[in-house]
Order: sequence, then C-alpha cells, then structure tokens
Amino acid sequence: MYKINENYLKLPGSYLFSNIGKKVTAYKAANPDKDVISLGIGDVTQPLAPAVIEALHSAVDEMADAATFHGYAPDLGYEFLRSAIRDNDYRERGVDIALDEIFISDGAKSDSGNIGDIFAVDNKIAVCDPVYPVYVDTNAMAGRTGDYIADEERWSNVIYMPCTKETNFAPELPKETPDIIYLCFPNNPTGSTITKDQLQEWVDYANKVGAVIIYDAAYEAYISEENVPHTIYECDGAKTCAIELRSFSKNAGFTGTRLGFTVIPKELKSNGVMLNSLWARRHGTKFNGAPYIIQRAGEAVYSEAGKAQTKQQVAYYMNNAKTIIEGLKSAGYTVSGGVNAPYVWLETPDGMSSWDFFDYLLTKANIVGTPGSGFGPSGEGYFRLTAFGTYENTLKAIDRIKAL
Ligand code: PLP
Repeated sequence: MYKINENYLKLPGSYLFSNIGKKVTAYKAANPDKDVISLGIGDVTQPLAPAVIEALHSAVDEMADAATFHGYAPDLGYEFLRSAIRDNDYRERGVDIALDEIFISDGAKSDSGNIGDIFAVDNKIAVCDPVYPVYVDTNAMAGRTGDYIADEERWSNVIYMPCTKETNFAPELPKETPDIIYLCFPNNPTGSTITKDQLQEWVDYANKVGAVIIYDAAYEAYISEENVPHTIYECDGAKTCAIELRSFSKNAGFTGTRLGFTVIPKELKSNGVMLNSLWARRHGTKFNGAPYIIQRAGEAVYSEAGKAQTKQQVAYYMNNAKTIIEGLKSAGYTVSGGVNAPYVWLETPDGMSSWDFFDYLLTKANIVGTPGSGFGPSGEGYFRLTAFGTYENTLKAIDRIKAL
C-alpha cells in the first residue's frame, strides 16, 4: 500500500480562512436578512488599473495571431518584466539586482511555500508571531516543525518570535539560533514595520550565525514612513543572507490575476552552493511560467500611467485604514498598524478571546474580521481588520462598531 505524507495529518484543522468562511456561511444561512460586511480576508476590491487592463487587452490580441503568439514563457520570466522590476523596485532605491536574480512566479503564496524545497528538512525555522500562516503550515507539510501541541496552539520545533504590544510588534533576536528566519514587513496581520536600522540588525545577525532570511515584502507599496526599508537589500550585507518575496496582489490588485517574484542574489551561498542555482533548477522543473498576458499586465504596473493609477488604489485603501483607526480609537479601542500597511490590529476588549470577539462582531454588528490567534499564539487577544473593503462598507462597518 502506498503511503501518504503523514506530516499533513499533523496540521491542525483547516486553514484559518476556511474556518472563518464556514462560520460566516452558517451565520448568513441562519440570518438571510442581515447585511454582513467583510473586513476579514486580505483580498482587494478595486478593479485592475486602466493601464493594466489596456496591456491585458493588447496581449490577448497578440495571442490571437500566429505571428505574435506566445507559448511557454522563459524559465525566469520575460525579460521585459524582470527589467522593469530591476529598474523600478531596486535601481531606483539604489540597489543593484541582476536580471538573473529575479524569478517571476504566480504569486508570493506559492513562492513562500515552495522556497522550502531548496532547504534540508532538519533546518530550524523562526517566525514572527503572529504572522501570515503559510510559512509555518508549509514547513509543517515538509516535516520541519515537529509536533503540533494543540493546547498551546504551537509547534514543538519552531522558534516563535513574539510581536506584541510589549515588543512594539517587532521581533527580538531569538535566544535559540535558527537556520531559516521568516520576516514579513510590513507585517500581516499586525500592520507593523521595522526601521532600516532594525532590519540591519537582523541582516547582521543572520550573516553572523549563518542563517538565511526569507523576507516577504508583499505589502511594500503601502509603506508611507521615511525610515522604513522597501527592500531588505537596502541593508548592507543582505545579499549574502536574504531572499526577498514580492507580489503584485496588493500593490496592483492582482489577487485574481496572479503574479509575483522572488529575488535570490548570487552572493547567497550555503557552503559554497548558490541558492540562486538551486531555485533556478526548482523553478524550471516544477513551474512552467506565469502567463504571457499576465506578465505584460505586470509590466504595465511600472508604466507612468500604471504607477500613478496603482498609487491611487493604495491611497484609497489607506484612506480606509485611517477611517478604521480613527473610528476604533474614538470607540475606545487600542489599535496599531494601518499606517504602512492595509491592516489594522486591535486589542480585543475586556480580555475577550480572539474567536469570542469574532463571534461578537459577527452576531452583534454583522462584521467579519480575523481572529488574531489564527496567525500564531501571540495573536491571542488581538483582532485584524483590513482596509481592502470599499470606502462605503468601511464607513458603515465602523459606524456599527461605534454603536455597539
Ligand atoms: N505574503 C503575505 C504576507 C500575504 O499576506 C499574502 C496574501 O495575503 C501573500 C504573501 C500572498 O500573496 P500572493 O497573492 O502574491 O500569493
């Protein structure tokens, strides 16, 4: 009899958002007259920018003609897109990244899950707590996280780095030395960031102990404050210790269109072996490229019109974030985030658990948010609201919370 990957059996319940979805569906079925507003899942609501739509239409037309048709994309992605990324995301920030250090993908979720393929199973991972659950779950699937301790809601072989009010929502260097460090800034779910000097400390630490940092900058476009780094490669020495993940989902609304990229500098080596070569081998073997039309759409994000239009979308969401923060504060909540990220992180009132507060908001105000504990044990007692709704719904939701 064949055997399954038993690591999957260790995973607790279903993915956070499936649980939320089930609860909301059940509530709506029982209360069909209620107008339920979701400030829960981190999905965007604004349509693709006109420059992106124009590029899509024109690429679709190219696909209709044998002379301009495109089949399989090059392994690393089309050069027109990688050049736009190199120039706009890196050169403009004084960072020199080569074209063959950029790997185009279908998004940061796949990349953050797949990157583990190039690392041994016995590496020890460290994660911010709370954080985007995919890092831990995919490492659990790979057999890197030990056993799940249900009553503590944590894995036995993961270094959790608490990011709570007490640490100003930033991780502290861990006591135990990790091999792989996942950092996500601006952070999902807390919306927090760290300064360039703080990130430099992590880079220096990783280089000192021989760890690799997987830096998820999916929310880079939301950074509004000056001293917050846009890429880890702004830090000295980052090229010898860091991989960066990026996404087109949140800066340009590609959540349903799918596009992202990973940067692996050639200086990044483990015992002389370039991680860039390993990832190139993996990418070429297990991935057949993001579609041509989508890569053209991605290129359009970097056009003058595309930049201006996507900036406007980000501003729209950040205006929602401001509305949420101000509304919650006036209702007496303790809130953070929402300045460099589309996420507002609030303390649940009266010591309520994250899930109790979820039920309370759903049933009393018909608002869906995300329980903090779903992002890690230190998320207990917190709750995430996202700024990705429409302005009208955001206002309505905040008015309901104020009226509670
Ligand atoms: N990384 C973080 C931190 C996220 O919050 C998300 C989505 O919510 C992703 C990655 C996924 O990005 P993508 O849509 O590119 O797969």
